[in-house]
Amino acid sequence: MKKVEGICHLCGKYTELTFEHVPPKSANNKERAKLITGREIFNTKKLQAGITLRYINQQQGAGNYTLCKECNNNTGDWYAKEYIKFANEIGYILTNEINIKTAKGIGLDSNKLYFQRIIKQILCMFLSTIQPEYAMEFKDIREYVLNKISTEFNSEKYRVSMYLLKNYEISHSGILGLLLKENGKTTIRKVAIMNLYPIGFILEIDPPKKNIDDTTDITKFTTLEYDELQNVVMTFTITEKYSLHNFTDRFIKENSDNRSDNNGK
Ligand SMILES: [Zn+2]
Repeated sequence: MKKVEGICHLCGKYTELTFEHVPPKSANNKERAKLITGREIFNTKKLQAGITLRYINQQQGAGNYTLCKECNNNTGDWYAKEYIKFANEIGYILTNEINIKTAKGIGLDSNKLYFQRIIKQILCMFLSTIQPEYAMEFKDIREYVLNKISTEFNSEKYRVSMYLLKNYEISHSGILGLLLKENGKTTIRKVAIMNLYPIGFILEIDPPKKNIDDTTDITKFTTLEYDELQNVVMTFTITEKYSLHNFTDRFIKENSDNRSDNNGK
């Protein structure tokens, strides 16, 4: 077995790291995986030219040495099981209960899942997939995930959104700063994107008021208690094919929408 030492993305200790599967093994991640890294996804010239992206072969499924043994075991026990139920439920609906060719989205009406555990797993996966030096900056998210009963999450500062994927894809971007320049004015949008078939997630830092088109804001799950079952009724959009261009286009559109709003006042 390979020994890897480094900083645990969750507790911040320098120690021996264990392999953290993202998504969890039982949520469509048992096979050998091909991981496309953020830098490659951002290679827009290659995407436009249709050139196959460079990937890293991962023998044991997608993931990386990012968490210490204790954090890996704890989050596995506390959150991963619930996430696996959720992801597999959605996967089942997508493949068996709807016509994937024509469906635009699915509705979720459930009082049988612990949604706080699900969002903590999602945040744990974001921390795992972002660069370690950035993970340390999100002390508040790390503390929220490390304490299983905590409901203290800064939903002004962070937004988590979700959508569904039509095609199999496992990829994540790490933290991206998108520079959007319009009429000489530059704005920066800080986001991280994970496509973990059948679900995709966006973490936005300092998000504007409006949600990104075709995504569903699930940040409110963070206000639930660890053992709280609440009836959740939501609709999730199914996305044809993931592309960072889609998001960049959405951000640009959103920024110009905001501008015209301001002009109208
Ligand atoms: Zn740790």
